[in-house]
Amino acid sequence: MFPPSSLLPVNRRVLLGGLVAAPLVLRFGRAPAAGAYLFPLGVASGDPAPDGFVLWTRLAADPLAPDGLGGLSAPIPVRWEVAADEGFSHIVAAGEVVAEQADAHSLHVEVAGLKPGRPYWYRFTAAGQRSPAGHARTAPAPDAPVDLLRLGVASCSHWEYGYFSAYGHMADEAPDLTLFLGDYIYEYTVGGARKANTVRSYDLEEATTLAGYRNRYALHRTDANLQRLHAVSPCLAVWDDHEVLNNYSGIWTQEPGAGGSDFLKRRAAGYKAFYEAMPIRRTRLDSRLQMPIHRRIRYGRLAEFFMLDGRQYRSRQPCVDVAGGAQGQIMTDSACPDRLDPSRTFLGFEQERWLYDGLARSNARWTILGQDLVMAGLRFEKAGEETRYWTDTWDGFPAARDRLTQALVTLKPRNPVVLSGDYHSFWTNDVKLDSRDSASRTVATEFVGTSITSGGPPHDALMSYMPSNPHIKFFEGRLRGYISIDVTPTRMLTRYRTVSNVRDPKATVATLNSWVVEDGRPGAQPA
Ligand code: FE
Ligand code: CA
Repeated sequence: MFPPSSLLPVNRRVLLGGLVAAPLVLRFGRAPAAGAYLFPLGVASGDPAPDGFVLWTRLAADPLAPDGLGGLSAPIPVRWEVAADEGFSHIVAAGEVVAEQADAHSLHVEVAGLKPGRPYWYRFTAAGQRSPAGHARTAPAPDAPVDLLRLGVASCSHWEYGYFSAYGHMADEAPDLTLFLGDYIYEYTVGGARKANTVRSYDLEEATTLAGYRNRYALHRTDANLQRLHAVSPCLAVWDDHEVLNNYSGIWTQEPGAGGSDFLKRRAAGYKAFYEAMPIRRTRLDSRLQMPIHRRIRYGRLAEFFMLDGRQYRSRQPCVDVAGGAQGQIMTDSACPDRLDPSRTFLGFEQERWLYDGLARSNARWTILGQDLVMAGLRFEKAGEETRYWTDTWDGFPAARDRLTQALVTLKPRNPVVLSGDYHSFWTNDVKLDSRDSASRTVATEFVGTSITSGGPPHDALMSYMPSNPHIKFFEGRLRGYISIDVTPTRMLTRYRTVSNVRDPKATVATLNSWVVEDGRPGAQPA
């Protein structure tokens, strides 16, 4: 998460949006009902391959049952069907699976044997009830030419801070792939004075247990806009911190001296709930309570996606135990020499190796790194003061970032583009070979998407630092929305899409501005 305004020296405090009375929140009924509809959480698809994809649903009779089990206990047989047509007159694949309590009656069907690069429709049937139908798409064959790939990119959807109209507008665009780059849920519940700025409540205690995390996802999936987006667009999802806990890093929380096995168990609960909620391929907690989710997805000759995990394998944030150095502070190098330690890792050394190996072998036109945190870096420079860095992003791990930027130069993957979330603001960045030097070589293009609903960072304060960060070509922290990208063989067109008002369930959408990246030329230009 980005730095709060209290840490930034500005003269002018940014005022919060108008403190309008929150509209009435409709609570989802929690009483189990006999014969309840078993698919209130909708359907989803993801992780496409040339011959298939993952189909997801989670059965529930009472989605927010306090025990996190959705009001179900017995195993339930479920039939799944994939059709070549929207009317399901031509079923091309089908099977039966059993939804079990151990996975909260979630299903991850890995369909194979389909044709590459074409649309399919899918649905589930259980206990004589039929799910809504979803639309999925296989990836093109690895060597197939692709003229156009449309992406939607989302991050940071805090339920309490707004309605999910942005998700609805994304669904209207029906992207070929939707990337969720983290903070899909928030583990905490807004309290105190900040509550006045919310529009609806989680009405749930802070998530710390498996039941708590499950119910966060379940609540999100009762949202009609988000359900529609998942039904229409296959996705690639990774997590950031709030799927577990604000600003955690690896196996450490943000508290000095804290961590250990209690946090590891909490993290495992968050990871399991994420898996159960997302259409990702089968993965599981191992004996160290790790759950790998980084993966590589190829989309014909046009694009190769590296979906990265920027939380699970990280080193502890620097200087947590230094006086005043709690995790996520803005640190100077003299106060925090730790930050520069070359043994620190952001992705974990195994994931780093996997990434470099993949980059070396990738031969797609566009190399897309989908991940959670701003990579290009932001130097907090002020005349007469030592430069400071916000340590929760890649800026807290400069040696790891140097290894990656050097790998991009050495391994020469074509057209590297980094897509990032977390900062609740739009950024268009040149990722520099040397992040300390804005004049050094540009090795990748970065687009950071603003939040779906979550509150923005202190815009004016951050703008005051932009003149000393010329590799950041654009910054906007006041608007909520998402990114829409058209990828073609010759160029990538990126549009920053903004919603009119997160407090308005019928918010309209507009394009703030657009950016072009040309094949062979790193760095975005205004379109
Ligand atoms: Fe966030
Ligand atoms: Ca975050």
